[in-house]
Amino acid sequence: MAIDFTLSPELEQIRVRVREFIDRVVKPGEAKIGHREDVERSHYLKILFEMRDEAKAAGLWLPHMPAEFGGMGLGHVELAMVQAEAAKASYGPWALNCQAPDEGNMHTLLHWATPEQKEKYLRPLCDGRTMSCFAMTEPEVAGSDPTLIQTRAVLEGDYWVVNGHKWFISNARRASFAILIARTEDNPEVPQAANTGFIVDIPSEGWRRVREVETMHGGTGHSEIQIENLRIPAKNILGGRGQGHRLGQYRLGPARLAHCMRWIAQAETALDMMVDRSLKRFAHGSVLAEKQGIQWMIADSAMELYQAKLMVLHAAYRIDNKLDFTSEVSMAKHFVANALGRIIDRSIQVHGALGYSTDTPLASMYQHARWARFADGADEVHQMRIAQRTIAAYSRDGSTRRATGDLPV
Ligand SMILES: Cc1cc2nc3c(=O)[nH]c(=O)nc-3n(C[C@H](O)[C@H](O)[C@H](O)COP(=O)(O)OP(=O)(O)OC[C@H]3O[C@@H](n4cnc5c(N)ncnc54)[C@H](O)[C@@H]3O)c2cc1C
Repeated sequence: MAIDFTLSPELEQIRVRVREFIDRVVKPGEAKIGHREDVERSHYLKILFEMRDEAKAAGLWLPHMPAEFGGMGLGHVELAMVQAEAAKASYGPWALNCQAPDEGNMHTLLHWATPEQKEKYLRPLCDGRTMSCFAMTEPEVAGSDPTLIQTRAVLEGDYWVVNGHKWFISNARRASFAILIARTEDNPEVPQAANTGFIVDIPSEGWRRVREVETMHGGTGHSEIQIENLRIPAKNILGGRGQGHRLGQYRLGPARLAHCMRWIAQAETALDMMVDRSLKRFAHGSVLAEKQGIQWMIADSAMELYQAKLMVLHAAYRIDNKLDFTSEVSMAKHFVANALGRIIDRSIQVHGALGYSTDTPLASMYQHARWARFADGADEVHQMRIAQRTIAAYSRDGSTRRATGDLPV
């Protein structure tokens, strides 16, 4: 019997240390920051960088990267437990340097970059000296279908000359470089092979930040970028011509799952708050926890969180064991994103007006949870792919079993 959900004592110790670090360092740091708009920027940055220094000192820096780059070298299953602890505070993943989009970009560079590119871009990112962004989505065409990308790169001598338009580029205003996806091939063998990845130094002439896109959660660092005659040295190509789609897919597998790990933390926080409130609030002769209508919300949330954890652990196991993980990550991403929204929504319901206020983190969590259903793959696109793979499995094997996690049940 190899199915074992217990953690080794060493791993359990890491989990406890992350939890303790979040409670001792990050949550008090966040409390000092309070509402970010009210804090002097220099003071805000000082608090953030102190958290990072403490994470390094505590040996909790960069959990997802190998020791060669200063990381803890954890696998994806191990990472699931670290991310799920770290994301109990909003700045937790940032303090450990495993936040999006840097974390996904690190995986991408580790896998695709040349040794020179790794030294120039990956190492400073891992050291916490720089930040990065990933530039793929365009306002004019559906981000769900990267074969439609219009930003064009044309090779002229030793440079690629790029023209195009991107938006929702998270972190662009703070980044020292971008991983940019642009169209380079006119007649690719398959439509997916039209795009290529490049590393762009920021600032660069021809890379212009037009504005921060205001979202339902305010202006939280997603930029619109106009690209005009941007010249990228040929050596800054990432992973070869026509490899942009593969690079994106490689990046998105672990990055999507890392989102799920952080969403589990958020969902658990919402459920903890739901139960806590239901035990303390009294109405119509009993506390809310004794009412069946409330118990159903608690039970539904508990079951969904349990499913979310199992799906994430299993998808992480498949990545770690070099098994095909595409469907499992898709299913996990779709399920966890939706469960997160439902659990926070129920928690708000149980809190009543308090849940709707900004006196608790629930309102902010709810706004953030909404984008989970379409960013990094819209619900419907994941459903389309899951259905295609399920039909293909049945057509091939006479059974849908392979498409439901390929589990021994
Ligand atoms: C907070 C946030 C951060 C982001 N950060 C980044 C970033 O750093 N870098 C970056 O490049 N992008 C980023 N994005 C963009 C994100 O990746 C895109 O929003 C996503 O890929 C969807 O593309 P789109 O917005 O163009 O929607 P579209 O592709 O236009 O899709 C709109 C809707 O159409 C429907 N749809 C699409 N295809 C199908 C289908 N086949 N069947 C049925 N329905 C379908 C879905 O309901 C979908 O939600 C970010 C977005 C947000 C909100």
